[in-house]
Amino acid sequence: MLIKKITELFAHQPAVFDFDYCIVRSKRKSLCIQIKDSSVRILAPQRFPVAQINQFLLQKQDWIAKKLQQQQVSTAQLQHFKQSGKIFCNGQLKTLVVQRASLYQITETDQQILLQIPNRISELQQSSYIKRKLDNWFNHRAKLHFPERLALFSYQLELAPAGLIIKKYRARWGSCSSDRVISLNYLLMMAPDFVIDYVIVHELCHLTHMNHSASFWALVARHYPDYRQAKHWLKVNSHQLQAIHH
Ligand SMILES: [Zn+2]
Repeated sequence: MLIKKITELFAHQPAVFDFDYCIVRSKRKSLCIQIKDSSVRILAPQRFPVAQINQFLLQKQDWIAKKLQQQQVSTAQLQHFKQSGKIFCNGQLKTLVVQRASLYQITETDQQILLQIPNRISELQQSSYIKRKLDNWFNHRAKLHFPERLALFSYQLELAPAGLIIKKYRARWGSCSSDRVISLNYLLMMAPDFVIDYVIVHELCHLTHMNHSASFWALVARHYPDYRQAKHWLKVNSHQLQAIHH
């Protein structure tokens, strides 16, 4: 009976993981993770112990997080950006106004981002030109902002990374390598300051815990008590932030 097979369907597990998942039991011989429509399903043999399933998830959690985020980034969202002409900037949704001018210039006001593009740029080149200029703009701002914040939190947490790389990632906001180099996605400049700070603290805490274990989250909470709010902001707005991906 189907109902017997899916005994633990929607049995959400507590806090250890960043994602909700369900366990689907059947006559299969091994564990398998399925990620579809932003949900995680663990296919497991009938009597496979939950503790071992959790252990398996713990090992795979970075991979799962990556897959979940990749699924959020789709070409449909890029279309959305092109049509709406709205863009996030430091957490505020602003109207992108494109004007023809003799020289390139980008100006930010309370309500909008005015992008003046040179007359020599053809209609055909326009869209990729705009994306390139916005990319450069965020990259430039990130280079002014991230090192200072990283230095501040590095001092507060007494954790020193071996280096900082600022670049664009398709499906992640930051990372921390085994050789202690922290990388930050410059598109984070679209997010409010408290979210940027959270990502920096998150990556710094990986210098102590190279995983997302309970101890890791306890360390994040100690240094950044509002981390849930920041995570929530990223979850809700990720598609907007990812919208200028090529
Ligand atoms: Zn992490």
